[in-house]
Amino acid sequence: MILTDALPLLWDQHCCLPLTPAADVGDLLRFREIGASFVSVNVGYAPNDADSTLGILESFRRQLAGDERFLLAASAADVATAHASGRLAVAFDLEDANPLDGRLELVERYHQLGVRTLVPTYNYRNAAGSGCMDTDDEGLTAYGRAMVREMNRVGMVPDGSHSSVRTGLDLCEVSTGPVIYSHSCMRSVWEHERNITDEQARACAATGGVIGITGVGIFLGANDISIDALIRHLDYAVELVGPDHVGIGTDFPFDQTDFDREFAENAELFPESYRRWGPIRFLSPEALSPLAAALSARGYPDETIGGILGGNFLRVARQAWGTRDLAA
Ligand SMILES: [Zn+2]
Repeated sequence: MILTDALPLLWDQHCCLPLTPAADVGDLLRFREIGASFVSVNVGYAPNDADSTLGILESFRRQLAGDERFLLAASAADVATAHASGRLAVAFDLEDANPLDGRLELVERYHQLGVRTLVPTYNYRNAAGSGCMDTDDEGLTAYGRAMVREMNRVGMVPDGSHSSVRTGLDLCEVSTGPVIYSHSCMRSVWEHERNITDEQARACAATGGVIGITGVGIFLGANDISIDALIRHLDYAVELVGPDHVGIGTDFPFDQTDFDREFAENAELFPESYRRWGPIRFLSPEALSPLAAALSARGYPDETIGGILGGNFLRVARQAWGTRDLAA
């Protein structure tokens, strides 16, 4: 499928391949098939140290560079190029500070390798701050604050998903650029610790950031992966913070068997609120196809739909990815 600039940009701010160098990045082409121009792929979370994360990144980058259907995205301009030529631009994200091994200089190294967003804390407290499952919320630590300043310096966007309420608010206070929630639903629509409060959403929007509504059944509702459930969260977020601050971050795991294994092997990261509905269901890339028409039927103007589907996250990339020569 060859796209033109006339079609809206479709941008997924977070999806997941198996976290192993052996994973096949070709699975990402399911997003290209539905007309997407950009995906951010996770390359490490709390269980990963720097060695394992860098090994995964090296493999994913080598595979993507060798396939002309992909474009390794360093800048917003690269995404526009992919959009105009029918390719899929790919950048990477980290969920948790653990892949830094406590070494802030690795922020710049990861940025050079295409990582553009980083979550400080995955569900539970670490050196950077508190997670959304901690009962005692102490926000960002001094180390976490230094990490945000380094991210601002190199052009990596702070991401509040999985963090505690206060950690998310602290990100917005410390960061000099936009803060995003790459894959988070709205707690006022569905009560879950992983969903964000209205206060978090407002603070994110005030930085110029974007909330990526996610396609995870247990965050959308009672393991509900209907487009209607997705739209309930989109509608609420648009009403609360305005249409310029809402987007999509599916969290789609391409290999559900691998996801179930990862989930079982790291049970300490996932409390009962992740388990009460049985196996977690995910909205597939293909299920996003009717989203634009569904939003249009609800009266959303084309320009607003374009922003939600991708234009808003593109704006953040233009503002914050910062591919300038840092040595200069
Ligand atoms: Zn996540």
